[in-house]
Amino acid sequence: MTHNPLMSRERVIVPPRKPPTKAEKIAAWNRDRSLAHILRMIEYDTNGGCWLWRGELIGARYGRTDLLGRGIWTLAHRLSWRVFFGDIAEGLVICHRCDVPQCCNPAHLFAGTMKENMADMRRKGRDRPVRGTAVSNAKLSEVDVGEIVAGLRAGARNVDLGRRYGVTKEAISAIKRGINWRHLTGGAVQ
Ligand SMILES: [Zn+2]
Repeated sequence: MTHNPLMSRERVIVPPRKPPTKAEKIAAWNRDRSLAHILRMIEYDTNGGCWLWRGELIGARYGRTDLLGRGIWTLAHRLSWRVFFGDIAEGLVICHRCDVPQCCNPAHLFAGTMKENMADMRRKGRDRPVRGTAVSNAKLSEVDVGEIVAGLRAGARNVDLGRRYGVTKEAISAIKRGINWRHLTGGAVQ
């Protein structure tokens, strides 16, 4: 009698399924599903053509999403860039021509270095505080701090970064020297 594994009463030991690693999750990233997700989550602004993110916002500005429930958090406009134009080269920031942070319209986005981003803002005369009065203890989001660090590395001046994020140049200096936000920056910005 041939052995039929389906009839076997032996228990097959299946190793417990490990949760996917972050790299595996990123590899499973699916462009079409992400596009459908973005289109479901945005509201079209008939005034300027912006695609306004209706989901969670970071610092009341940037849309935040996880890659279709895979537990990898990203900024909505960066996800949109990836869907339409492909991967974002390391060190590049995705900026808004329309000056609407929560906008995900790929036609309103451009990729540049933080240095180019700052120069662009100066050219457009947008280097005014984005919120409130510049005070040293104004609330910065972790995303802000990440962008500030990128800006410092690209050689942006404390005063320009302070204006952009609505804090004093001393507050930027404290981040640069590793006094504030050390848990995010790991110390002085090199
Ligand atoms: Zn826009």
